[in-house]
Amino acid sequence: MKAVCWHGATDVRVDNVPDPKIINPHDAIIKITLTAICGSDLHLYDGFIPSMQSGDILGHEFMGEVVEVGSDVKRVKIGDRVVVPFTISCGNCFFCQRDLWSLCDNSNPNAAIAEKLYGHSAAGLFGYSHIFGGYAGGQAQYARVPFADVGLFKIPDGLTDEQVLFLTDIFPTGYMAAENCNIQPGDTVAVWGCGPVGLFAIKSAYMLGADRVIGIDRVPERLQLAKEFGKAEVINYEEVDAGEAVKEMTGGRGPDACIDAVGMEAHGTDAVAIYDRVKQAVRLETDRPTALRQVIVACRKGGTVSIPGVYGGLLDKIPFGAAFNKGLNFKMGQTHVHRYLSPLLEHIQKGDIDPSYIITHRMKLEDAPKGYEIFKQKKDNCIKVVLDPL
Ligand code: NAD
Ligand code: ZN
Repeated sequence: MKAVCWHGATDVRVDNVPDPKIINPHDAIIKITLTAICGSDLHLYDGFIPSMQSGDILGHEFMGEVVEVGSDVKRVKIGDRVVVPFTISCGNCFFCQRDLWSLCDNSNPNAAIAEKLYGHSAAGLFGYSHIFGGYAGGQAQYARVPFADVGLFKIPDGLTDEQVLFLTDIFPTGYMAAENCNIQPGDTVAVWGCGPVGLFAIKSAYMLGADRVIGIDRVPERLQLAKEFGKAEVINYEEVDAGEAVKEMTGGRGPDACIDAVGMEAHGTDAVAIYDRVKQAVRLETDRPTALRQVIVACRKGGTVSIPGVYGGLLDKIPFGAAFNKGLNFKMGQTHVHRYLSPLLEHIQKGDIDPSYIITHRMKLEDAPKGYEIFKQKKDNCIKVVLDPL
């Protein structure tokens, strides 16, 4: 089959690789009908997530049709149309039982490496390095899905692939980011980053009752979508100081919650941002937390900082004193996707949201290298790329 493979920083290729096989009786094989490139893939593309190996198959946002099931798969049948959560979860461990699906204790065969880095291992993830299990991803024609009965989520007829594909990751991720803000009537939520995750966080903040939502970015078409799709007020952080602006917009108090939907490759131009770039380039710092620093300083006293943006390692110059003395609440992590599948599908069915609205590019799987490049460089008004493997 054809698959998008990582061969080093900014080097992805579409290779011919062996088809996946059932290796555990709980596995299923999916024939992929649509897959997408995520902001998280850019961290791999740019070479900032360690333990990638040349030839690793990328991709964690994918859906398709079940074509083969292992002997112990009971709930899913050949022919079912399904979406696949990007987090791999067993459904039975301490964490899955507590609805903390992305912290599954049983799905990372390389848990020992993660334990060395993080103290404990989180769940295995599709196409996301060997620290997270070394699973082949779904930017391919076929994929093997472990714990098929737990992960695969059937899609009813009447909805297009484009409408439901983002249930695999970015819609639940934006939603969980907003839910983590514990939104109360009258609240203002500010969202740093108006990429796909930020856009869904903006939408979700309103769905969860926010009074005002402010979106921050510098890319004009992303700010435009935050206004149009998200109904947010927007700030271009290249034109004004975003932290000062949100403070002013909230009568000096600061937003009740601030969401960092940017993550470890934040852009910045001040002296500290240059320091981050240099330290990251020589591997003395793993992440560039420009947005996170601003979020902490901007958030109102006693407010919530919600972090869906991915961080991988050690962060410099985090204003922890500000966080402590303002009594901030922190919520973060990979999304517990399984928790949100049914409720968010219902929102799509009711017409509360059409996730396909953010798709700007539909390309053939063969064109994935171009897709990565334009998504990374934000060329051609690119917001979200979906890839058709057929
Ligand atoms: P993206 O790269 O398309 O979007 C990031 C946006 O942030 C861009 O529009 C960029 O212009 C903007 N930005 C950069 N620096 C900024 C700054 N200093 N201030 C404000 N905005 C800034 O990616 P995406 O797909 O939207 O993903 C965003 C983040 O969410 C990534 O870190 C991704 O890895 C992460 N993510 C996390 C999960 C999870 O489970 N927690 C799931 C999916 C994605
Ligand atoms: Zn993703």
